[in-house]
Amino acid sequence: MRDDPREFAASTPCAGEAGHTGDWRNKRPVVSPAACVAAKAGKDTCRICWAYCPDGCIRFDAGPEIDYDYCKGCGICAEECPSGAITMVPEHEAGTGAG
Ligand code: SF4
Ligand code: SF4
Repeated sequence: MRDDPREFAASTPCAGEAGHTGDWRNKRPVVSPAACVAAKAGKDTCRICWAYCPDGCIRFDAGPEIDYDYCKGCGICAEECPSGAITMVPEHEAGTGAG
């Protein structure tokens, strides 16, 4: 998130085989905007999910957006979200295939 004015140590994904997730991920995080604390309040999002993601693959527009090309499905974002807005869904139930 290079454009983010906040000082924060975080990596950003870049193109390349080393970072690109293949078809091995078995679950993907799905965000429920209605449950995202800040999105509900019409304020800037808390970004805890972004801060904890080890792959730097969560971006923000109106709310959190996950880049499934790089998400590894570790589930940390879902664990850390204070409002339970992120659910880990099996890939076969997500219906969109691997990222
Ligand atoms: S599941 Fe892991 S890699 Fe994917 S967005 Fe959440 S924290 Fe990042
Ligand atoms: S951690 Fe949860 S409440 Fe905070 S921005 Fe991410 S999805 Fe929204």
